[in-house]
Amino acid sequence: MSALPFTCLDDYDPDALSVWRARQFLLETVQPIVGHERLFVREALDRVLAEDVISPVDVPAHDNSAMDGWAVRHADLSPDRETRLTIVGTAFAGRPCDAKLGACETARIMTGAMIPEGADCVVIQEVVRVEGETIVVPPGQKPAQNIRRAGEDLQAGKPALSAGKRLRPAELGVIASLGIAEVTVRRRVRVALFSTGDELMSIGTPLAPGAVYDSNRYTLWGMLTRLGCEVIDMGVVKDDPVTLEAAFRAAAACSDAIVTSGGVSVGEADFVKQLMARLGEVAFWKIAMKPGKPMAFGRIGAGKESAWLFGLPGNPVAVMVTFYQFVQPALMKLMGIDPVPEVATFPARCVVPIKKGKGRTEFQRGILFQENGAWCVRPTGHQGSGMLSSMTQADCFIVLEAERGFIEAGEMVQVQPFAGLA
Ligand code: AMP
Ligand code: MG
Repeated sequence: MSALPFTCLDDYDPDALSVWRARQFLLETVQPIVGHERLFVREALDRVLAEDVISPVDVPAHDNSAMDGWAVRHADLSPDRETRLTIVGTAFAGRPCDAKLGACETARIMTGAMIPEGADCVVIQEVVRVEGETIVVPPGQKPAQNIRRAGEDLQAGKPALSAGKRLRPAELGVIASLGIAEVTVRRRVRVALFSTGDELMSIGTPLAPGAVYDSNRYTLWGMLTRLGCEVIDMGVVKDDPVTLEAAFRAAAACSDAIVTSGGVSVGEADFVKQLMARLGEVAFWKIAMKPGKPMAFGRIGAGKESAWLFGLPGNPVAVMVTFYQFVQPALMKLMGIDPVPEVATFPARCVVPIKKGKGRTEFQRGILFQENGAWCVRPTGHQGSGMLSSMTQADCFIVLEAERGFIEAGEMVQVQPFAGLA
């Protein structure tokens, strides 16, 4: 294992790494996994292209009509009067047209049909009068109008999609439009997952006094699965050095990345720190944010195998916030997504005041709504980092920058919506 560039963070206040700097460090440090596979187009949904997809053909393959109408020779048309043309054929989509236009001739043409020889303009059917075997075209038609040119979408020999692109429905369609049936994508990232804490109980058993059910493994499983990772669920691990070490070693041996929750807060970090120092190179960060201040990041090994480690805090909301802000972009980089997209953030009017101290970036849970056509937001009720119900009520994070203090009702704030279209 080569040394991680943690020293480049030394000029930052070790007790307050900024959200931005932490994310940037992760993105610079994590490198894409090696390994790819060939998949049929449909199986490749949400996967990441390992190679460019080079177009073997022009799309469209031939000049064709963008409208239902009449194929004409523009030179035949009078610029200021109606023009009468003789109908000599019909061009249907999907089959070559035998009609060849001579002077003052026209062919009926359907959307998508090849432009007949001689024609260089399509007049939409709505403006044309049909009179027996002839049509009457009004003046004002422009040369080449309503014609889609061969290769105007994609050109033969050029990359239609680049390596690093995540395949959404549009990309599947583009690949299919080239007649390609299989693509080379990166293999899935394997993420081992476990929760730490003596107080944790797995679901399906009665709750002992003082215990809490392990919910983090479920939110993390959901987020990782959505992201397209292969999840290895290792259950709950007690806060005991021997058990923890065995769990970390087992996880490092079978995964590309390990995500844990709990055990990185100040009271608990000490023995975990010693353990991590034995297993690899892990930094314990205090990020200037709320919730989610403590987080461990590094690389740990077991024999020849090693894996990235993301040690998240235990509080359920902090787990989700730190996952979305840090782990998700880092895993995207690991998955080979290039470039890793910025989280879409836009301004909304905050309709209630929010108490906030300067110094930390806050991720409050918010509900978006529209008022007079403008986006507004209000926080969900209680914002405690243990209150996971705030995440179920919310449809966005309200991101309050570190340097900001108290927010008055009516001020603009940045929001990150949870869901988008694709
Ligand atoms: P910790 O970071 O381990 O000190 O945990 C902080 C808080 O989060 C404590 O109240 C824990 O009980 C709670 N917590 C830790 N892990 C989990 C988990 N897997 N599921 C639900 N709550 C948890
Ligand atoms: Mg704990």
